[in-house]
Amino acid sequence: MNPKVLIAGAGPVGLTLAIELARFGIPVRIFDKAPAPTDKSKAVAVWARTLELFDRAGLAEPLVAAGVKVKAANIIAGTTKIARVAFDGVDTDYAYALMIPQYDTERILDTHLRSLGVTVERGVELARFVDTGTGARASVTRADGTAEDIEADWLVGCDGAHSFVRHGLGMAFDGDTIPAEFILADLRISGDGPPVEELVSYWHEKGVVIFLPLPGNRLRLLANMEASTGAEAPEPTLAEVQAIIDERTPGGLVASDPVGMARFRINERKVADFRSGRVFLAGDAAHIHSPAGGQGMNTGMQDAFNLAWKLALVCRGEAHEQVLASYSSERGAVAETVIKESGRLTKVAMLSGHFEQAARNFIARHLFGLRSVRSAAAGILSELAIAYDGGPLNGGHVRGLNGPLPGHRLSPRGRDLIGAGPTPRFALFADESSAASAAIIERHANLLEGAVRPAVAAGGIWLVRPDGYVAMSASAGDWRSVGDYLDGLTGNEPIARGAEPAHSLPA
Ligand SMILES: Cc1cc2nc3c(=O)[nH]c(=O)nc-3n(C[C@H](O)[C@H](O)[C@H](O)COP(=O)(O)OP(=O)(O)OC[C@H]3O[C@@H](n4cnc5c(N)ncnc54)[C@H](O)[C@@H]3O)c2cc1C
Repeated sequence: MNPKVLIAGAGPVGLTLAIELARFGIPVRIFDKAPAPTDKSKAVAVWARTLELFDRAGLAEPLVAAGVKVKAANIIAGTTKIARVAFDGVDTDYAYALMIPQYDTERILDTHLRSLGVTVERGVELARFVDTGTGARASVTRADGTAEDIEADWLVGCDGAHSFVRHGLGMAFDGDTIPAEFILADLRISGDGPPVEELVSYWHEKGVVIFLPLPGNRLRLLANMEASTGAEAPEPTLAEVQAIIDERTPGGLVASDPVGMARFRINERKVADFRSGRVFLAGDAAHIHSPAGGQGMNTGMQDAFNLAWKLALVCRGEAHEQVLASYSSERGAVAETVIKESGRLTKVAMLSGHFEQAARNFIARHLFGLRSVRSAAAGILSELAIAYDGGPLNGGHVRGLNGPLPGHRLSPRGRDLIGAGPTPRFALFADESSAASAAIIERHANLLEGAVRPAVAAGGIWLVRPDGYVAMSASAGDWRSVGDYLDGLTGNEPIARGAEPAHSLPA
């Protein structure tokens, strides 16, 4: 069967994209060269914004049930508490970091995808592809030596950091490698602390060691080391891990029962464009960065959420293809910020030199004493602060109107979920419904929910995208601006002839 969308790679990002597209009724095929799903714990944090977006597919509940909730992150230097950032003040139903091994996240996504009638084709490798101008033709090979050519309208490379698709497009993966080595181990810890229900980062003059709670009373340990030179460094040992714990924590902690110990380096890289013609990149294929803050997998999944509703509308013939141009600019800007923020966090934690570290600790303790700084940190970590400021899909807004700006998230709390269900639909919020609003809903039945929802704030109209970000706002009664924006999405003429379209997509 030739699908509308062909997805290369069934990691967390490919699975998320396949689920969203299948949910919206788009014929999709997804394959992976690995014969079986990963058995590695890899990314262990799923943040609030990702859970909000999964909730639209009914997936937040099974994920939350399989993980542990971490309600705060701590920084400790020696025996001094530098900071405690609690997540309970953030405006979401998921005011915590959900800790869940990546193999469990992928298992839950895979099961859900099957329930939508799509099965990952495993042991199937992308060997060649070509952009035909009106679609993409991919040649895949199977472990048994058979091959198949698949035609699709669109190809999405969710094939990880060493992406075959990215290489095939000849795209540069510009950036750097951080000159340090890190070790990772999932283990059990006995003794006094760290608190099993909170994330703890110990800053020490020899480096940082971080503990993240995992299900089953285990902890993920991350620590930086001197960069080794020459021959490939051996796997870390339990004795090496214990020595780091003894050196960098206040003491009294005993590590045991390690699994999945690894040594790795951090790359900070990104492509300039997430799209080339009929081919897209998403997730690690498009951007990689420090695991500090646990943003990597979340950022990739949110690439998939961003792309899915746009591709679905275009595949269904309900929006102009130009909508797809916004994917790279919106997600490219987010990836750039994540690279910058996670890199900064890593460098601050790894800072060396006695005076530099003393100054860092002093400044950090005072900064994190401020509620506004703790609140900003929680917003960044939870990814609730992500906004598409200046994005090409942002329409107008009215100065002085309360409520989120175009490109900003509308909190789903206390509201029926936007973008849930089998069709990607924008939501309209206003104080009044009128003949004019009814006319717009009728004219754009393929883009809009069937009824106006109560206003976000007095005096305005809000149009909100299927991924929950505000598209535009207008003054109460200014339905023409809403109509013009929607006409821009479909490529139609504005409703009000003779008037300048207030909001249109770039040519
Ligand atoms: C040891 C380790 C620890 C990590 N810890 C964290 C963490 O704490 N926090 C965090 O946010 N992130 C972490 N990460 C990164 C996180 O795992 C990735 O960001 C995430 O897996 C990216 O998902 P993805 O779907 O984009 O790519 P991947 O998970 O890499 O999936 C890509 C898939 O594509 C398949 N593929 C590749 N080439 C082809 C081809 N030619 N044809 C078909 N299929 C192909 C691969 O088999 C793979 O299944 C960690 C990674 C590792 C390795």
